[in-house]
Parts: sequence; structure tokens; C-alpha cells
Amino acid sequence: MTPKIASFLASQPATPCLVLDLDRVAENFARLRAALPAAAIYYAVKANPAPQILRLLAEAGSCFDAASLPEIEASLEAGAQPEAISFGNTVKKPSAIARAHAFGVPLYAFDSREELEKIAAHAPGAKIYCRLAVNNVGAEWPLSKKFGTTLEKAKELMLAARGLGLMPHGLSFHVGSQQTGTLAYELAIAEVAMLFTDLKNAGLPLQMLNLGGGFPTRYQEDVPEHDEFGTAIMDTMIRHFGNDLPDILIEPGRSMVGDAGVVAAEAVLVCRRMPQDERRWVYLDIGRFGGLAETEGEAIRYRITAGDGATGPVVLAGPSCDGVDVMYEKTPYRLPLGLKSGDTVLIHDTGAYVTSYASQNFNGFTPLAEHYI
Ligand SMILES: *Cc1c(COP(=O)(O)O)cnc(C)c1O
Repeated sequence: MTPKIASFLASQPATPCLVLDLDRVAENFARLRAALPAAAIYYAVKANPAPQILRLLAEAGSCFDAASLPEIEASLEAGAQPEAISFGNTVKKPSAIARAHAFGVPLYAFDSREELEKIAAHAPGAKIYCRLAVNNVGAEWPLSKKFGTTLEKAKELMLAARGLGLMPHGLSFHVGSQQTGTLAYELAIAEVAMLFTDLKNAGLPLQMLNLGGGFPTRYQEDVPEHDEFGTAIMDTMIRHFGNDLPDILIEPGRSMVGDAGVVAAEAVLVCRRMPQDERRWVYLDIGRFGGLAETEGEAIRYRITAGDGATGPVVLAGPSCDGVDVMYEKTPYRLPLGLKSGDTVLIHDTGAYVTSYASQNFNGFTPLAEHYI
């Protein structure tokens, strides 16, 4: 926790709330830029779309990866130029494509012929890039089979794009979120480089490779530093592309904002469900529906603290009347034995994928309050 957040929390804001230190976002941006100076940074807006964050990043020279029309509008309102925005979702409404095109957004992702045809119809002449499905080895929040296409299909679609009046610009992939190693990037770059060569030989030289997001936040275990990803990525790029490097884009979300925020919550109830239970159940005023959606499958395991003193094992649950609203039952968590109703519990490194996942009014609980300091 940064000193700024600690002093804000000393004023005991109403819980649950996210307190996020904007200086840390600026540092994360600068550090990633230094680790990968050859890459243009497109912040993945969905990680945390707060206007304060978008303004700070726009001023620092970031570009934006938007998944929807409202994310495009939020980026523009924050001061981004339309040319600095990529419409990166491979699933877009025709009306949103048309509106983005009218704003002057130049770059559109696709991974199917049907989407390519939609872009051709509603953003004629736009630059397009095809998303490939790649191995998500090492990702703690992998992407399933929902996105991306094969090398063969991508080749066919990129070759068809010109005939549809579009500008075939590049390729992209996403190695899964909270990616804890560099291997997935290395494998994906090697694969995509073959398609670059293939398309060049077929008379279609591409200009851009979008490496997606995935750079991790440190939760409870150490993860590689930005520098380690930067070095592995550039070594692999040079090995496969030599002096003919394409423009490189990255789309970091989590690593820009994750460690900048802390959620302050209140223990609502601390009890044992059965007299013989060794573990206490701790019910917080935030849960799976209040923003902690990434505790699904206990995939993201936040660091959680609640003052000092001897600790014992706990199960952590949310306040709602839904049986799936349990954050951690399998992962061993320990909290102070003296913890009682009314005490503050801190959930660390919750700057990414928390506020944007909070539900509206489930059980009447108001969405998570947000403080950007
Ligand atoms: C979610 C997403 C990102 C951001 O991923 P992080 O793991 O948060 O860095 C980047 N690109 C695409 C296409 C995404 O869907």
C-alpha cells in the first residue's frame, strides 16, 4: 500500500471502497514504456475505465484499446485523439463500428469473416488486424476458446480484406490475463512471424503486430518484472523478424492499474458454521457481485489483511444472499483470531477488474465507492 493510500484510509472512508493512487499508475506506465520502448502502449480500458485514469494516461501519451462504443467515448472525453484508439473487440455491433468510424477511429480487430464483412460495410477503408488464438500457458485468468482464429483462416481472411475495400494492417494475439511467464509470448511471436512471412510471399506485407495484454500484477506470489517481459519479447521479435520489425503494439490492462488500488471492506459477520469447524467464516461487505468477480474459481488470489495479532484459518464470503458468493474456500487464508464484526479488512492490489465488475444493486447493495487520489 502506498503512503498516500494509507493516509487516506486513516480518515476511515465508508466501506466498501476502492482507493487508488494515481501516481502508481503513472509509474507503471513509465516502467512498462521503459521496458518495451519499441512498443506503443494501448491501455485496455476495461481494466479500470475511471476518467481520472484515462486522463492521466492520455496526458502521458498512452493510446487506448477500447472494447465498446462507450469505452471509445470515454477515451475521447479523456483527451485521447481518435487516431490513438483501437477498437479491439472482435465482437462489435454494426452501429458501434459506424459511430467509431465517424469519430475517426482507424483500427479494428476481427477474427471471423462475418465480423470482417461488418467492418467493411460500416467502416469502409479502415485498417484491420486479425486476432489469432494462441496458447495461454502460464495465464491465471486464461481466455478459453472465445477469441481468435487459426493461422490458415487468418491468412485467407487477410488476403480477402483488400477485396472488401479494407486495409489489411496487422495481426494480434492475447496470451491470457495475469500471465506469469514469458513463454506464451515467445511461442505466439514465433507462430505469428511465420504468417507474416507467408503473407509477404503472397504479396501482402503487414505493418503491425499487436501483442495484447497479460502482463501480471504481484498478488501473493512473485511475478517477473516488466523488464523481464520486455527483454524476452524483444529478443524473440529480433530472432524472428531480424531488421524487418513491424510496428509493435501492447494492450496492458491489469499491469497498469492492479497494484495501484486497495479495497477497504468491513467484516460484517465472523462465525463458525458448525461448532467443530476449525475455520471461521468471515463475511465481508464486498463479494463476488460487489466487484470481486475474479475470485471465480479462486483464480485471482488477492492479498488480504486485517490488522495484527495471531491468525487462524478462514473462509471468505460476500454479503449477498447468493450461495456462489464465496470468494475463497479452497485457498488457505488466515486472518487475526481477534477479528470481529465492524473491523476493517483490506484487499490489496484491487485496482484492476474490480470496480468495472461490480454489479448495480444486487440485494440492494450500492456499487463499490471509488476514490482516485
Ligand atoms: C482484456 C484484454 C487486454 C488486457 O489484458 P490484461 O491482462 O489486463 O493486460 C488486452 N487486450 C485484449 C484484446 C483484451 O481483451
